[in-house]
Amino acid sequence: MPSWGVPQAHRVITVVSERSSAVPQTCPRIPMTEAGPKKRLNPKRTPIREVDPGERRGAFIEAVLPYTPEEAIEEAQRCIQCGKPWCMEACPIGQDPRGYIKLLAHGDFTGARDLILRDNPLATCLGTVCYHYCERVCPVAKKGDPIAVRHLKRAALMYAGPATPYQPATPSNGQKVAVIGGGPAGLMNAWILGQRGYEVTVFEATDRLGGLMTQTIPAYRLTDDSFAQDMARFANLPVRFHFHSSFPDDIDIDGLLKEYDAVFIGLGTHKSKRLGIPGEDLDGVIPALKYLKESKRGERASIRPRVVVIGGGDVAMDSARTALRHGAEEVTILYRRSREEMPADDQEIKEAMDEGVKFQFLVAPKRFLGVKRLEGIELQQMILGPPDESGRRKPIPADAEPIMMRCDAAITAVSQEADLEGVPPDLGLKVGKDGVLEADPMSGATARPGVYAGGGASVVHAMAAGKRAAFAMDAYMMKKRNRAP
Ligand SMILES: Cc1cc2nc3c(=O)[nH]c(=O)nc-3n(C[C@H](O)[C@H](O)[C@H](O)COP(=O)(O)OP(=O)(O)OC[C@H]3O[C@@H](n4cnc5c(N)ncnc54)[C@H](O)[C@@H]3O)c2cc1C
Ligand code: SF4
Repeated sequence: MPSWGVPQAHRVITVVSERSSAVPQTCPRIPMTEAGPKKRLNPKRTPIREVDPGERRGAFIEAVLPYTPEEAIEEAQRCIQCGKPWCMEACPIGQDPRGYIKLLAHGDFTGARDLILRDNPLATCLGTVCYHYCERVCPVAKKGDPIAVRHLKRAALMYAGPATPYQPATPSNGQKVAVIGGGPAGLMNAWILGQRGYEVTVFEATDRLGGLMTQTIPAYRLTDDSFAQDMARFANLPVRFHFHSSFPDDIDIDGLLKEYDAVFIGLGTHKSKRLGIPGEDLDGVIPALKYLKESKRGERASIRPRVVVIGGGDVAMDSARTALRHGAEEVTILYRRSREEMPADDQEIKEAMDEGVKFQFLVAPKRFLGVKRLEGIELQQMILGPPDESGRRKPIPADAEPIMMRCDAAITAVSQEADLEGVPPDLGLKVGKDGVLEADPMSGATARPGVYAGGGASVVHAMAAGKRAAFAMDAYMMKKRNRAP
């Protein structure tokens, strides 16, 4: 299997994925039921098992275990197969879970996998890291727990075994596409256009594909093996990858547009926002993306004993849990609002708490303390005011004494944004509200004809942006093709 830029030394092949390859394509020990999904609503989710927090907090092993085939069938049979596709409508890439859940309910893992892969080239990864917007709208939640759609997807991909690589649906049409950035947005774009007969070249700045997903999400949530499985299915598509190709240093748009018929840019958000408080440059204050990238590349395996993490999102949770695995004695997340307003996924918060991460709410960092090396942090106590434009209650400084806290390392995880330094202004590319490149939301079109851009704050949102742009690029290039003498 090609390495797809993932260095062999950093791969994590887990017990779970070894077990998956031992399961045959159709599971003979599972009786095929004729009954299909159960008629009466079963409100209780088939439990999802986790590795004991005490065991997992010291190692980069997968924290959440997959369903067994029997458990997956049992869970799939809870789905009431809604007439209105709530779950599909909530999915940014429009994947309809009903069909594959029905197949799973009948024990047909291969059929379910094939259906999933029709719409979703990164399904193995999404089986563990998708924010499962579908589950948030599942009406079964009104009576109990929503259907575990993400976990069912994971089971389908695991127990059906490796799929046949994708084939281009149409022969080459002679037109060429350049994709800058090999993250989820760029890969989705390349996958669609490659299947539609375009020759696609992906230019990636680093030595690996997958973007922030593979560069930062720790192996206890996403293994390199999962991504390698997704990428193995690209093998027969007319999609080539150029690594260490950075825009605009190594690639210029004018040059690309002479050689390629259209360009998609999906650069992601790789710059951690600074807090802008005194002491931020002290030794021991580390931006979260830098910390997680170094950890994922195997360049960092330890951290000082007392760690604080500033922020309340998933990047903060991953930083805190990674610090535990790097041997920190005490890890505290500092968040300026309360638990209710935390943007991180509830499950991630729970897993972090179970592993022993401490949380201090309603505090904002005022300054880092120390001479050259970080020794502590001064915190402003906060109270909650009325909701702000995000709909969450706004933190306001309280009339209270500051809190002094000792720490040896501080990971800043407040937000990240696109790094557009050096990007020529005449491209018309701007950073949007969510910190990614701004382009027409429906088509990804930029001010420059033939140049499209997109990305997103989750893997599946980024894929959706890549998909929308692929359709618009296809239409644009088709017109070009038809105009050609
Ligand atoms: C710690 C962390 C945890 C996360 N957890 C989850 C999760 O559990 N679930 C979820 O759905 N989302 C998660 N996300 C968010 C998710 O990873 C991103 O939303 C998604 O990867 C964005 O995809 P993208 O293609 O827009 O950008 P990216 O993933 O950033 O990909 C952009 C690619 O472009 C390359 N690139 C950048 N600049 C250049 C350049 N100048 N020239 C050439 N190439 C360039 C980059 O190296 C990268 O490969 C997480 C993010 C972080 C940081
Ligand atoms: S919304 Fe829930 S119950 Fe309805 S079809 Fe989707 S997964 Fe099944």
